[in-house]
Amino acid sequence: MSIAIAIDGPAGAGKSTISKSAAKKLGFIYIDTGALYRTVGLAATRNNVEPVEGEAVNNLLNSIKVELTFNDKGEQVVLLDGEDVSGLIRTPEASMMASKISAIPEVRAYLLDLQRNMAKTDNVIMDGRDIGTVVLPDAEVKIFLTATPEARATRRYKELVEKGMDVKYEDILEDVKTRDYNDSHRDIAPLKQAEDAVLADTTEIDLEGSIDLIVSIIKEHM
Ligand code: C5P
Repeated sequence: MSIAIAIDGPAGAGKSTISKSAAKKLGFIYIDTGALYRTVGLAATRNNVEPVEGEAVNNLLNSIKVELTFNDKGEQVVLLDGEDVSGLIRTPEASMMASKISAIPEVRAYLLDLQRNMAKTDNVIMDGRDIGTVVLPDAEVKIFLTATPEARATRRYKELVEKGMDVKYEDILEDVKTRDYNDSHRDIAPLKQAEDAVLADTTEIDLEGSIDLIVSIIKEHM
């Protein structure tokens, strides 16, 4: 039987970087579920579909194909109608669109089986907002990874600047807070700590320390 580890938490808590490294150390497959919502968001942007519940979004979901695969380095690749959009979905605009579109029940239902199927055959570390509560409620280990909005905004800001993007810290902080609000106040699958999840706060811990912390929590609970 395969082992599933669920890592949930707010935007910018370091979930993807930390989960990726932890997966490597443990020999698990890392799955970033936010990329799926970002891809649906990108499809909506390209087709001029507003991220609100209704026929337009339903039609969009019926007309697109979202797939999750891995390249030869073992990195996740998301395909939208066969096109690799892994890089295109990493902009602040795509983040905000994903946050809005992910509140639509039909979008969540559309992506649910895709996520669950990934965990059926392989040992996975899956990160998102509702992995421990909705997608994999029986996950062997659940972690809720968080940090203050300021710490998360600072990290995201540095990341984007390093990529050469022209961004302002204040805008990033505002984005982080808006996404936190959207993610935790939506009616369906809101961001919240599962009752049986271990809380890990990385505000005062650097990346290496955070990875060690997560790996030790996983080993302890597996
Ligand atoms: O994790 P990431 O920031 O890439 O996710 C983008 C957006 O997708 C989040 O702000 C959140 O609204 C949504 N999301 C979600 N459920 C998940 C993963 C992401 O609602 N499991």
